[in-house]
Amino acid sequence: MDCLFCKITNKEIPAKIIYEDEHVIAFNDINPQAPLHFLVIPKKHISTLNDIEEADRELVGHMLMSASKIAKDQGVAEDGYRTVFNCNSHGGQTVYHIHLHVLAGKALGWPPY
Ligand code: C5P
Repeated sequence: MDCLFCKITNKEIPAKIIYEDEHVIAFNDINPQAPLHFLVIPKKHISTLNDIEEADRELVGHMLMSASKIAKDQGVAEDGYRTVFNCNSHGGQTVYHIHLHVLAGKALGWPPY
């Protein structure tokens, strides 16, 4: 499958990996929008949040659990951080393999437009 994030998962293209387990991988975003910006992705290919199924319930929960753990390990949990799933064009999704953005390291603006 010609998917950029599957290629990162399979180590076919490089990424700065900061966490990996059986089900997810996390790496620093190549174009960071905050002092710390990493992505948590499932190893399983799922195109968009619209495509998650009942069988993915635990996996999606694990993505959030992993984000929380990594944020603590990276020392940003106490000051806080933002998590974002972009879905399809209005959500700003550009890579069609679901990914949880985690942004931290400064006070972020809101709303996001
Ligand atoms: O939510 P969206 O699909 O727009 O986010 C895709 C993200 O993947 C972008 O933040 C982009 O910088 C990142 N990216 C990356 N490494 C790549 C290609 C894209 O970190 N090789």
